[in-house]
Amino acid sequence: MMADLVRVGSWIDGREMPASSGESFAVIDPGKGEVMGLAARGTAEDVDRAVAAARRALHAKEWQGINAYERGYAMLAWAQKIKEHKERLAGLLSLESGKTLHDCLDDVQTAIRNLEYFAGWADKIYGRVCPVPEQGVFDYLLREPLGVVGHIVPWNYPLDIFMRGVAPCLAAGNTVVVKPAEETPLSSIEMARLSKEAGFPDGVVNVVCGTGKEAGAALAGHPGLHGLAFCGSILTGKEVLHAAAERITPVISLELGGKSACILFADGNIEKAAVQKAWGLAHNTGQSCGARSRIFVHKEHYKQVVSLMQAAMASIQLGYGLDDPDMGPLVSQKQLERVSGYIRSGCEEGAELLYGGQHPESGPLKNGFFIQPALFGRAKPGMKIVEEEIFGPVTALIAYDCEEEAVAMANDSAYGLGAELWTCDLARAHRVAAQLDVSHVTINGSGGFGVELPFGGVKQSGFGREGGWDSIVQYTRIKQVWVQLD
Ligand code: ADP
Repeated sequence: MMADLVRVGSWIDGREMPASSGESFAVIDPGKGEVMGLAARGTAEDVDRAVAAARRALHAKEWQGINAYERGYAMLAWAQKIKEHKERLAGLLSLESGKTLHDCLDDVQTAIRNLEYFAGWADKIYGRVCPVPEQGVFDYLLREPLGVVGHIVPWNYPLDIFMRGVAPCLAAGNTVVVKPAEETPLSSIEMARLSKEAGFPDGVVNVVCGTGKEAGAALAGHPGLHGLAFCGSILTGKEVLHAAAERITPVISLELGGKSACILFADGNIEKAAVQKAWGLAHNTGQSCGARSRIFVHKEHYKQVVSLMQAAMASIQLGYGLDDPDMGPLVSQKQLERVSGYIRSGCEEGAELLYGGQHPESGPLKNGFFIQPALFGRAKPGMKIVEEEIFGPVTALIAYDCEEEAVAMANDSAYGLGAELWTCDLARAHRVAAQLDVSHVTINGSGGFGVELPFGGVKQSGFGREGGWDSIVQYTRIKQVWVQLD
């Protein structure tokens, strides 16, 4: 049995190595609740090694000495290697995360797209000339890499979030140290191995496996970093900010989840919206920071939305990720307990559980971290299920009377990530989009995620933008050069 376990070390300076302590930690298959892998339990010493390797590589001629377009070629070669191993990577990701195979293939594909997209930026990063009032003076700005950038990655989109930070960093000439989540280290190490096959110089890409409290905290507080990107919970985000503040390490982006609203206006396509929101719960088992976990419904359509959503949710098939069902398990026992706790609290606080919310107590799924998608009705501001991020397949219907009330309730949240609205009134669509206090609005559908598009939060959802040119800007720094010509 033990022989079948997938084993990985950390990826440091172009090779895989065990933890300095020799210790490993178990990776659990969420679909079965069984150990399926072992990863090196990286220590502060391992983080030191990785940062030292990244600092050496930063100044090495193999990296700083090459043309910008050659960095782009290396990135394209890495994308090609990942493509060749796409199915295997997706399968491994499915085993460690429980995600359905189609969600995993999307994750791998997004990693590939990030490399391809940002490879094209590598030789298009330039500064500008500043007009100055003095005669005989020439002043210009250089756009330079930051240096060594740390990336602390969560478990919900492990390869996508890894690469949305790493690809723009590499395009801009930085080197990186990544700390994947302890739930999902295996596919990240597999992806890092392919960087070597693609010809990346040693030390440019480093990945240290380990727990958040050990390897994560050591990376966040490391004096050798020139920048840090984090995606995860608010609580951990605050710890990361504190650790970075001690070293004055710039925190480039901090994405901390959301409590995204969807407003269904009476003049919108209610049927399409309701069915889409029901199926949206299955996507990544609701473990998405942009999940639409508050649905505001005009009271005229409330009953219709309830029955449409109940019917659609009844056809969502739960199953083992690798069998590619509609929806897989939650990532961990901890998440199962957390989501179940929110479902209990919704019932206790007076919301009406209209569908699902049960863990299968018998049958083939009973040992995995499965939960049926859950729909709450009669939800109200002030309830925990309306205020807090659940990070599972749970959504709450909240009735409203008029546009102003819907917008006010949607904005009444500590979070500010996504928001969605459905209407056939063009003026209302743009009016409400402008009023929503979030970073990302979708109209008549759930989209707006792509390597070309800046994504990040406002309010307690964090700051910084990953995607598109904004990524390049944030992973570079400006140097001003003043020249006296006469
Ligand atoms: P969750 O509670 O869902 O696991 P976290 O925000 O704790 O979400 O985890 C996101 C990432 O942050 C993971 O890679 C995790 O290992 C890491 N992490 C957890 N605690 C810390 C910490 N104190 N310092 C730095 N990174 C951490």
